[in-house]
Amino acid sequence: MRKILTLHFHDFLFEYEIQDGLDDMGFETPTPIQELAIPIILDGSDLIGCAQTGTGKTAAFLLPVLNKMVWDPIAATDTLVIVPTRELALQIYQALQGFCYHTNITSQVVYGGTDGISFEQEKKALLHGANVVIGTPGRLIAHLNMGNLKLENLRHLILDEADRMLDMGFVEDILKIINQAPKKRQTLMFSATMPPKIRQFAAKLLHEPKEISIAVSKPAERVVQGVFRVHDKDKNSVAVWLLKEKNLPSVIIFTGTKSKARQLERDLQKAGVNAKSISSDLEQKEREEVLRAFRSRRLPVLVATDVLSRGIDIEDIGMVINYDVPGDAEDYIHRIGRTARAESKGEAYTFVSGEEFRKFKRIEELMGMEVTKMANPAGIAEASVAVQGHLHSKKPGNPNSRGKSHFFRKKKS
Ligand code: AMP
Repeated sequence: MRKILTLHFHDFLFEYEIQDGLDDMGFETPTPIQELAIPIILDGSDLIGCAQTGTGKTAAFLLPVLNKMVWDPIAATDTLVIVPTRELALQIYQALQGFCYHTNITSQVVYGGTDGISFEQEKKALLHGANVVIGTPGRLIAHLNMGNLKLENLRHLILDEADRMLDMGFVEDILKIINQAPKKRQTLMFSATMPPKIRQFAAKLLHEPKEISIAVSKPAERVVQGVFRVHDKDKNSVAVWLLKEKNLPSVIIFTGTKSKARQLERDLQKAGVNAKSISSDLEQKEREEVLRAFRSRRLPVLVATDVLSRGIDIEDIGMVINYDVPGDAEDYIHRIGRTARAESKGEAYTFVSGEEFRKFKRIEELMGMEVTKMANPAGIAEASVAVQGHLHSKKPGNPNSRGKSHFFRKKKS
């Protein structure tokens, strides 16, 4: 079911320091897991979340926890994130740096397989009572055993990719770590799957947890997918080239907005392509007429927005072109699912500009697959990643410098 109202991060009334970090990173609207998890975590409940990487789960668990640390800071380790691999540890640490940029929260990532110098650096930060510690089980135990890591003031315990940790045989290690944390704490557990062993494990560690689950669809395997990395100004030329090159019957081109759909219709017609757009601006009769022409193959190219695409039930679409990267993975899967219906094969190409790289990366992560990058037609420059916001290293500072309530925060205009 589609949402009627779109929630904005401002609606969570996060502390300014957190909201400013989100603004810098270009996060505007929460993903489904963030929408569900953030209020529960802000409320103080334990939580089990069934979600994969790519759903935005990192921000879902970090933001509410960091928010609490901003308005009620402690000069000790407040949050421990236990993860199965160094890659995931680093990924979370990097996200944390962005979210914390405007705060005084200190953090440290610890993982095995590094040299003695790294271990000493980890030790120093832990002894200073880094507020957030992210680490793999073995290394965390090493620091606990040496007295570098102290968990007596811990308020938040987060287990990420719990199913993977269990598969990797980390249960005993995890229990050893948790035994050193206070019983009264908030525990959050995320897992891509929920087999019975995860439930049993959760029952040991969590207290009356709330449960949320984010189901992720997969695109049909018969759809051949490709990505063109192009600047916005070149998208029209690539569309015209692709239509000629592929010469497939019945093509739908999706745009993000109605106005873009109308503009593209005009541009394609100028380039000699028999294309029409449908939008909610058209009278019902006109819309039906365009769709009839498309169905009967008198009209080879239809330009449409997502909203209208949901109502179009046409078999045998030869190709889908995503002129803009869709808003989320569900939209992407829905769009490309217009082709390769009824056991036929189909092709789907997405135009990704520098600003859209990150958005598309998230869709790929969510689908658990990388889409083939295509070579641009001759003379069309390849767009490269435009970094939105920034990922900085943390600012030094005193974690005890602030302590205001988040209940009275005014919305930032
Ligand atoms: P995760 O599932 O936490 O690994 O997040 C996957 C990717 O989505 C990361 O690159 C995040 O930076 C990005 N991301 C997560 N939430 C949002 C959001 N609400 N808006 C934009 N990007 C997001």
